[in-house]
Amino acid sequence: MIELKWHKLSTKKKKYLSTANSALLLQSIPMTKRRVKEFLNNIDCKTELLILGVVGQNDTFVPGMEDSMQFRLATLDEVKQQLISLFKSNPKLKEQLEKKIVLLDYSYEVGKYVIRELKPKQIFWVNGSWRFSLHLRQEWWESYDLGVKIKRISPFANDNEAKSRAKKITAENLNWLTKKWKVNLDSDFAVDELKEFVQDISKLSWDWTGQTGACLVHEISGKNQTNSDSKKSDDSSRFEVITWSHNVVVPFESYIMHKGALKELHRTPPGENIELTQTNHAEVAAVLRAAEQGLNFENIDLVTSKFPCPVCARILADSPISRVYYSEGYSNGLGMMVLKGAGKSFLQI
Ligand SMILES: [Zn+2]
Repeated sequence: MIELKWHKLSTKKKKYLSTANSALLLQSIPMTKRRVKEFLNNIDCKTELLILGVVGQNDTFVPGMEDSMQFRLATLDEVKQQLISLFKSNPKLKEQLEKKIVLLDYSYEVGKYVIRELKPKQIFWVNGSWRFSLHLRQEWWESYDLGVKIKRISPFANDNEAKSRAKKITAENLNWLTKKWKVNLDSDFAVDELKEFVQDISKLSWDWTGQTGACLVHEISGKNQTNSDSKKSDDSSRFEVITWSHNVVVPFESYIMHKGALKELHRTPPGENIELTQTNHAEVAAVLRAAEQGLNFENIDLVTSKFPCPVCARILADSPISRVYYSEGYSNGLGMMVLKGAGKSFLQI
């Protein structure tokens, strides 16, 4: 097992590495020990080099997913210790693979150069290790242009491991959110606080193709309460948070990390074929949560980090919610048409 640093590699060495029949596992969130063992056992015997890319020295989270513990990147030490422990208990595996393994330390943004210069014969991507769909990333196109065999893999060996990570991380994330906001549903929030609050809630989403947060609020004071036609929010308004949610993957949060995201399997362009998802969007998830809790929907507004998509807009159109506060727009204008048609008002915050 050798360790290399990308920024210290000479052109000669890169050239030498590119001549080998190599497999590259790109930057990754942590895989379970059982999954690593399974992965190593399935490596094609013709593979001369197995390059394990590690970016955890330079980036703590998948860029753009900061503070989302489910998207924390594995560190070099973590990967090394896992391999040492596996080889200790599996002498046969050690004999077959130890000399073939290269731990490559590089930073996330140079991934496409790593592919271009090392020309691996096969690339493995661990689900959940990038932001947005994989086929929207340059690294993916780089592999596609080179004609490299691409495989997306799970970081878990089975459903139980996936569920157990989801349970542990969800608790950690909730702890972080509660500490920051001291989420006390009796306290009141100003508009700018709600904007930051839904942004933070969105970080609890496990769907890396889109993270959204939403909450249902009741206006306790301010002009918005009396002026439902206003297009601008009143900064002095105060709100009580009734309930909240984020994009929820079904049937369990780590499901797409384990089984793969439909959007990626179908190479869906952004904003299209929105039915290809295994996620309930935050707006609908918040409404479901409120219904589960038997909450009263009277005089309730929705606050969301992203304008509702057409599917959510249809559900909201048929709900007693009369006003939608949103932070980020949505490229497809259909949602807006649906809400307008239903007489709902919306305000950007
Ligand atoms: Zn939606």
